[in-house]
Amino acid sequence: MTVQPNSIEARDAAYQLHSYSNARKMEAEGSLILEEGEGIYVTDNTGKRYIEGLSGLWSVAVGFGEQRLIDAANAQMQKLPYYHTFAQKSHTPSVELAEKLIEMAPVPMSKVFFTNSGSEANDTVVKLLWYRANAMGTPEKKKIISRIKGYHGVTVASASLTGLPYNHMSFDLPLPGILHTGCPHYGGFAQDGESEEQFVARLAQELDDMIQSEGPDTIAAFIGEPVMGAGGVIVPPEGYWAAIQAVLKKYDILLIADEVICGFGRTGKMFGCETMGIEPDIMVMSKQLSSSYMPISAVMMNDRVYQPVADESDKIGTFGHGYTGSGHPVGAAVALENIKIIEERDLVGNAAKLSPLFIERLTALTDNPLVKEMRGIGLIGALELKQQGDAVGVAGAAMSAACMERGLIVRNLGDTVALCPPLIITEAQLNELFDIYADALASLSF
Ligand code: PLP
Repeated sequence: MTVQPNSIEARDAAYQLHSYSNARKMEAEGSLILEEGEGIYVTDNTGKRYIEGLSGLWSVAVGFGEQRLIDAANAQMQKLPYYHTFAQKSHTPSVELAEKLIEMAPVPMSKVFFTNSGSEANDTVVKLLWYRANAMGTPEKKKIISRIKGYHGVTVASASLTGLPYNHMSFDLPLPGILHTGCPHYGGFAQDGESEEQFVARLAQELDDMIQSEGPDTIAAFIGEPVMGAGGVIVPPEGYWAAIQAVLKKYDILLIADEVICGFGRTGKMFGCETMGIEPDIMVMSKQLSSSYMPISAVMMNDRVYQPVADESDKIGTFGHGYTGSGHPVGAAVALENIKIIEERDLVGNAAKLSPLFIERLTALTDNPLVKEMRGIGLIGALELKQQGDAVGVAGAAMSAACMERGLIVRNLGDTVALCPPLIITEAQLNELFDIYADALASLSF
């Protein structure tokens, strides 16, 4: 693609620094400009239609152009377009959303703190843990264990939690006090001849060893996505979460579930914690919370977290944290309506119902000699392609381009090509998506 002078692509390249793009490549090639969306489809500025195979960024559960969300935003805009939740002020949408999330929680939870993005939510988690450690008179208990390939965002603290090289390189991250333990990707990290069971036992032992060598009294929490998304759609082996939770319990270490991708049905149950048997102290939610029609995220915590934080705010005189947009009334109103739609249309049930077809069609593609591995659960999955030559990502980028050409947007994370379609997808549409994906794969030659 070459950029035409004065085109929207040229103006884009002239004025925007884009997320997760090579800025020099983008200046030369421009971006794909999307104009409209309806259901599982989006249309670019040339009129070409694509299936959005990644729901935007793993987020548009109810699809594009959902009139009820547009109406909910409009109605709230008319009534109270903005108010904050600082200094003992509140408004009905934030109250109702907090109440609804506590009701939905798979384990007893106490309070919700609202933020605007997954990164801000995880940044808030780090601050809550530090504040709590001071409140409890254990100021040395502040380290957080995350995982290699985990993704938790890009603020200074949340990028530190993220365990991917691009988020650290040249940013001088991670921060001290954030540690990374092993990734539960059996196909990627198992040793020769190691069974899944042995692999899980080794990861749990490595975690235990890390805690012992750092000092159990220095570790506040462990954070993980129930199923890793941006790290390459990594579904942990059977028994992994039980083994990890047993170690954390032994040392009184809190568990944080980052549900930013898994939450609201993606894995075939309402929360990834339910699918994976996780009992967290904190849950982090965003994306499918509002189908990303409005930026909103939430940190839900139990009383073990909340009570010391409340005491400390009482001691200091205020909880000195919060965002102008925390609990934004329009975001909260849209999220409430979005959850209503997910429940009324049983989109979680739809994900569970279509999951066998989704997995079957992905698995069928593993016959192709370019494929290294297939991974998936619910309506999230990926094919990992074999690396071509020395460079990671050549095969993945070629597959992504072949899909785009054929009218399907997917995301390649290195050589892993991820799929995460809107939860409203029908059986016929899922087959349409896979017909394109299979044709794109068949077209590749290296
Ligand atoms: N946590 C997880 C699991 C994510 O997948 C993401 C984004 O993809 C984030 C946190 C960060 O969210 P945001 O991009 O809204 O800051």
